[in-house]
Amino acid sequence: TEDCLAEIDAADALNAVVTKTPERARAMADAADARLKAGDAPDMCGLPLGVKDLFCTEGVKSQAASNILGGFTPPYESTTTAKLWAEGAVMLGKLNMDEFAMGSSNETSCYGPVASPWRREGANAPLTPGGSSGGSAAAVAADLCLAATGTDTGGSIRQPAAFTGIVGVKPTYGRVSRWGIVAFASSLDQAGPMVKSVRDGAIMLRAMAGLDTKDSTSADIPVPDFEAALTGDIRGKTIGIPREYRIDGMPDEIEALWTKGREMLADAGAKVVDISLPHTKYALPAYYIIAPAEASSNLARYDGVRYGARAKLAADDGVTEMFEKTRAEGFGAEVRSRVMVGAYVLSAGYYDAYYLRAQKVRTLIRRDFETAFADGVDAILTPATPSAAFALGEVGGDDPVAMYLNDVFTVTVNLAGLPGVAVPAGLDGAGLPLGLQLIGRPWEEADMLNIAQALE
Ligand code: GLN
Repeated sequence: TEDCLAEIDAADALNAVVTKTPERARAMADAADARLKAGDAPDMCGLPLGVKDLFCTEGVKSQAASNILGGFTPPYESTTTAKLWAEGAVMLGKLNMDEFAMGSSNETSCYGPVASPWRREGANAPLTPGGSSGGSAAAVAADLCLAATGTDTGGSIRQPAAFTGIVGVKPTYGRVSRWGIVAFASSLDQAGPMVKSVRDGAIMLRAMAGLDTKDSTSADIPVPDFEAALTGDIRGKTIGIPREYRIDGMPDEIEALWTKGREMLADAGAKVVDISLPHTKYALPAYYIIAPAEASSNLARYDGVRYGARAKLAADDGVTEMFEKTRAEGFGAEVRSRVMVGAYVLSAGYYDAYYLRAQKVRTLIRRDFETAFADGVDAILTPATPSAAFALGEVGGDDPVAMYLNDVFTVTVNLAGLPGVAVPAGLDGAGLPLGLQLIGRPWEEADMLNIAQALE
């Protein structure tokens, strides 16, 4: 814990940690020490962790990297972090992220962007750690903490993990409680571990997972010992390679990485087969309708009354002006545009054409996966991202769709509610990490992680 606290102070330039909690960390570390000495040592006991700012932490500012939650200090703890603390894990502080987890580069944060600890060989421009869990990824990659929590609505654990050379686990929807995590798109949101190795991911996922009656979508399904499932034996497993993920303009090095992944799994005794997931190309448009629709509904609660900030009002301003001014000032540009898109696709005149159609497409995407699994596929191998990390300021700007394209390989997993893991699998020509993604059967994270280990 002391080493991590020192590393955090020395790494302010990365902007990965937005709220430091050294006193709490030391108290928790002392308590963990006492438990260890007493022989009561759960797996997570004494491990120093960073927490994405999206998780409500009791008595510690939790702003979801948004000005509209300025100064919001929750009087409660998210179920997931509470489970980690109950096992003796140590909270080092809160980590930067995209505002309300909307973004793929950590550039929409009210705290400013996070710089990746990685640099392109021969170049100085700071790179994005990815997003929205950019602070979590940078903090783990730079050894500011041993592990961090992330959340993944459309790739926000897996894409930053791939960009920073760490492992990111997105569990099956319903595996980890969403209670006390600021909601973005409730039917897609899922928290998970961001860690140094698949084994660490297995250990931390067990500690985070399980039924929580405070989240109506939390599943009453036993949590296995994921670590015990890491036998290293994947002989006879069937790995699907979906042809629709070979997209136009995919860089050669991503193609080469994917081939290398196939070969590693085949060498370990798996059977690698080509499969088809025919509705893949509709996933990104469906996601960017469904996620904003749910966000516009979830973010309606930020009204200047219930949480955080309220705009300065003129003497004759009424309640409508208070809502309008607070929301105009409190939300950043990306969040405002998502709320507008969401309200539009849910509006009476456009609901059938956009929202309802996107929901139908979502069903078709889920069925594509069900068909593949019914045909005997145990896991599906794809690249995690269509490129390595880009420089801060390089993508997006006037062209938000260019940023959204980062999520092309990850959003399908959220739409189908499946588990997915990003594993570092090599470096590109400029020395930057590239990740592979393994998609598992629902509730079969244990099997997925065991296969993923063969890629490490
Ligand atoms: N990049 C995606 C978005 O901006 C995914 C975000 C996420 O998974 N939280 O919506």
